[in-house]
Amino acid sequence: MSGPAARGDVGERSWRAPGRVNLIGEHTDYNEGFCLPLAIEQGCTATASIAEDGFVEVSSAQRDEPIELALTDLAPGVLADEDSWAGYVLGVVWALRERGHDLPGLSLSVDGNVPLGAGLSSSAALECSVAAAVSDLCGLGLTPADVVAVARQAENDFVGAPTGGMDQLASVFGQAGHALLCDMRTLDVEALPFDPAAAGLDLLVLDSRAPHRLTDGGYGERRRSCEQAAELLGVRALRDVAIGDLDDALNRLPTEQLRKRARHVITENDRTLRCAQLLRDGRLTEIGPLLTESHHSLRDDFEVSTPQIDLAVQIMGAFDAIGARITGGGFGGCAIGLLEPRQARAAAVAIRAAFDGLGFGEPVGFTVVPSAGLRRIVSSHL
Ligand code: ADP
Ligand code: MG
Repeated sequence: MSGPAARGDVGERSWRAPGRVNLIGEHTDYNEGFCLPLAIEQGCTATASIAEDGFVEVSSAQRDEPIELALTDLAPGVLADEDSWAGYVLGVVWALRERGHDLPGLSLSVDGNVPLGAGLSSSAALECSVAAAVSDLCGLGLTPADVVAVARQAENDFVGAPTGGMDQLASVFGQAGHALLCDMRTLDVEALPFDPAAAGLDLLVLDSRAPHRLTDGGYGERRRSCEQAAELLGVRALRDVAIGDLDDALNRLPTEQLRKRARHVITENDRTLRCAQLLRDGRLTEIGPLLTESHHSLRDDFEVSTPQIDLAVQIMGAFDAIGARITGGGFGGCAIGLLEPRQARAAAVAIRAAFDGLGFGEPVGFTVVPSAGLRRIVSSHL
């Protein structure tokens, strides 16, 4: 990530980081398990330049007011609620300083087209693009793995969203035509061929426009339940319970709620590994049932779906989706499905009509293409 610019050089550096769709492996990342995301074309571009010493200024094309702060004032909790969006950017600067990087005054401007708060990871796109742009501008020499770590530190410790790290891995390491099997214990990533168009399919995303908030209670509560289940089972994380030991493990948990949460995570890890094997073997068209089982598990056992998403998944099924599910952390956000292009268009129309009939907000449907991860944007005027 290091660039030719020495500190104090005039000029700017722009980096683009994508959002992601998680194909399968939901709420497994913080259980040190497996997930299978893909980077999408939609992303965020961050441009960094040197500014007045000692200060950092942040602006977003998606927000009206820029925010300016002294570097020495950066600390978790310093931002007012209405400025919280800037925490994803300032959190990166804070995390770099925490790691001992001595930064000059910075001006950071961002512009993204990932829908915000929809479960497609606008937050990781924002953090990763900023981390890479600052590293390049200031010659910090961050590796891609460092960008993942800094971005995650910003989200967890500065913003206060207890997310598990999948999003940043996908945003940095994404590859066109591939999904990434991520081992969230080792942070190893394996790119597996995933090209729906070549199989005559579209990957349809249906944004229910009911935004989630990962700093709200539901996500953290699920995370704590998983940690409690792991502790009661005497394992470091639920990742350590093999699918063959599922029944035995469930019998040892004291409440129905803990059993449901653990069953989701243990079976989801197994589904994710089976899905990865199918992709490895070039059998993309056979993954559908795993996606649909994942949805049922997230709806019934992990209880993070919504009536809007359940309806979207059901309608995609009625239009012959080979599989469909909620994607992202849940409590709103998006559904995905693999459908023939003609059926995908018809399903999106039908979902809009059904939402309208039930008085739900207006959803947005679009297809996504597995795309490249973090990259430098070369500006013509440099
Ligand atoms: P997701 O990552 O699924 O989109 P999050 O709740 O994790 O949802 O992050 C969304 C938040 O990230 C937004 O509410 C906003 O605060 C911030 N954000 C992301 N991209 C931008 C942007 N381009 N400009 C300003 N804020 C952004
Ligand atoms: Mg996010």
